[in-house]
Amino acid sequence: MECTEVTVLKGVGSQLAEKLLKLGIRTIQDLLFHLPLRYLDRTRISPLGGLQLHSHVVIEGEIKASDVVFGRRRSLMCRLQDGTGTVTLRFFHFTHAQKQRLAPGVRLRCFGETRRGASGIELYHPECEILEQTNPLPLEQTLTPVYPITEGITQQRLRSLTQQALEMLNSGATNTHLTELIPETLRQRLQQPPLTEAIAYLHHPPKEASVDLLLRGEHPHQQRLAFEELLAHHLSLLRIRQRTQAEKAPVLSSNSEIQQRFLRQLPFQLTAAQSRVIGEVSADIARPRPMLRLVQGDVGSGKTVVAALAALQTVANGFQAAIMAPTEILAEQHRRNMTQWLQPLGVETAWLTGRQKAAERRRQLQAIANAAAQVVIGTHALFQEEVEFANLGLIIIDEQHRFGVHQRLSLRQKGTKSGLQPHQLIMTATPIPRTLAMSAYADLDFSAIDELPPGRTPVTTVAIAGERRGQVIERVRLACREGRQAYWVCTLIEESELLEAQAAEATAEELGKALPDLTVGLLHGRMKPQEKEAAMAAFKAAELDLLVATTVIEVGVDVPNASLMIIENPERLGLAQLHQLRGRVGRGASASHCVLLYSSPLSQQSRERIKAMRETNDGFVIAEKDLRLRGPGEVLGTRQTGAIQLKIADLQRDAHLLHSIKMCAHQLLRDYPQQADALIQRWLGHNEHYANV
Ligand code: ADP
Ligand code: MG
Repeated sequence: MECTEVTVLKGVGSQLAEKLLKLGIRTIQDLLFHLPLRYLDRTRISPLGGLQLHSHVVIEGEIKASDVVFGRRRSLMCRLQDGTGTVTLRFFHFTHAQKQRLAPGVRLRCFGETRRGASGIELYHPECEILEQTNPLPLEQTLTPVYPITEGITQQRLRSLTQQALEMLNSGATNTHLTELIPETLRQRLQQPPLTEAIAYLHHPPKEASVDLLLRGEHPHQQRLAFEELLAHHLSLLRIRQRTQAEKAPVLSSNSEIQQRFLRQLPFQLTAAQSRVIGEVSADIARPRPMLRLVQGDVGSGKTVVAALAALQTVANGFQAAIMAPTEILAEQHRRNMTQWLQPLGVETAWLTGRQKAAERRRQLQAIANAAAQVVIGTHALFQEEVEFANLGLIIIDEQHRFGVHQRLSLRQKGTKSGLQPHQLIMTATPIPRTLAMSAYADLDFSAIDELPPGRTPVTTVAIAGERRGQVIERVRLACREGRQAYWVCTLIEESELLEAQAAEATAEELGKALPDLTVGLLHGRMKPQEKEAAMAAFKAAELDLLVATTVIEVGVDVPNASLMIIENPERLGLAQLHQLRGRVGRGASASHCVLLYSSPLSQQSRERIKAMRETNDGFVIAEKDLRLRGPGEVLGTRQTGAIQLKIADLQRDAHLLHSIKMCAHQLLRDYPQQADALIQRWLGHNEHYANV
């Protein structure tokens, strides 16, 4: 049954099969796993006298009158009566035959939703069945499922197909059963119902089932499936990890002399947290197995130095290191840092972005291919097919939350020619709540830089309404007159780089006029790379007082003298993004401020976000709050990358399952590897990235 196609069902031809495919249903198993969104109770008849508004009800009665009325819209109105009261059925679309059938004296059973109409309680377009005295209609014995549907497939159609599939399941023929993949002993220990029982129950819950629990997704039978789905995801990540670890990686031994030379030329001392994480990474890459390590450190915690030292250790062993950043500005900044830190030690760097001129690009590609370049810095462009590394030993990905598991996997294809897999170091400033870390990053080891460099003063955050914009501008003037620098960040509702750029341009012009004694610069995503570079360099050199920018500066930009940030319309951004933006200030010794210049009225969610921003500078607290407000998909930034797509489970709701899932996953991999693979196939088989690893 796992792969029996739906076309074996009665009434399913190629056309219907195609529509089903739009719902992700190809096999009988898919159909059975296509679970109801909610349920209707058609198991009892409601007396007309006691109807409540806005409920789905089954009613019965006799038609007392049936008329076509010409109000604002022509409609057919039938008055239905039982011993207890009267309601109106209203049809805006009806055929002549329908009108004739719904004649006075006819007894009807109807199903529909009550609403307030011109004549009191009405049902618009209810489903109707005519009751014959001789042949009483049975009522439904179970709750009626309501499925997610698509154009061309009705609820009734889906219900009857599912019914057929369930009958096949119950018939017990060996080719039609649904394999139980969680081993019996484990299942019983976890007190989970069998799979087939859960599936059958969820398609047709008995009438006494708790609709409340079902709607919340907390019914034990739903939890059984959520458990299995999360287990499959976890297994897939562990499998990725297993396979990676079975491969060989270059041994990049640490060389304390070179390391000391590097550290001596730094203008600061490493924090204890930095030293510890560098030690972990250094030990990892000295082993012949590919490192897969996630380094998490709040904005400003100093992750770049960790990357530089890892790259240096790689180069010292005759291999290349690649550093990938999510934006050009950040890549440019890494390039500057790496060149500044590594060139004095004789390390050659190369540089690749999507916007380079052809000749320049060719030159860089050649240096990468012939090993002249030892550290290569760039954006996604690094991992295009034409980029050939001579001997890549280490891949560093900065600000990982923007890349999904897919991208992580595709990097492995950039392995060294010698058949060695490069080590991977992933750095993120987005604190990942524990539950998410476990389910989204179970394939990675984990280090935390849980300490900021000394001498930082926490950023004070205030929220000010847009009406007081003039005062905020004045505040910028005062701060800049004291020799400090400021960011003014423009945001937009639509994710349109063009509109955002235009808004920033207009704001820069406005502020330039309002602040004639200040030098105002502009930075947005539509500018040419050289222009961006020039703007950043001028700001860094304090030639600009105020930098008006779009959210392109969100990630990684580092100008310690900037101590004031205005964020316009912060209500348009998520918490994590606001926290990232704010991380651009508070990097120097002087007290820093962040002004959230909002437009009222604020929604409840925006108000909570702004409150959280004012209350804490702690990335972990922000992340937990963000998870609660937005849900896991958004927090991981996986909307774009599609890393976690859960059909049934909900990471927050089902977080309590994660502990047993972890235990179960390890036991499956050890004792039941085939079941483990079948589970991955069942839940993630449609996803080639997982299926092919
Ligand atoms: P992030 O973790 O956000 O990437 P960066 O690596 O950009 O942080 O570092 C932020 C700033 O702190 C940089 O100016 C960097 O030079 C500085 N820095 C890093 N480590 C230390 C340290 N141990 N002491 C003082 N300053 C440091
Ligand atoms: Mg950084």
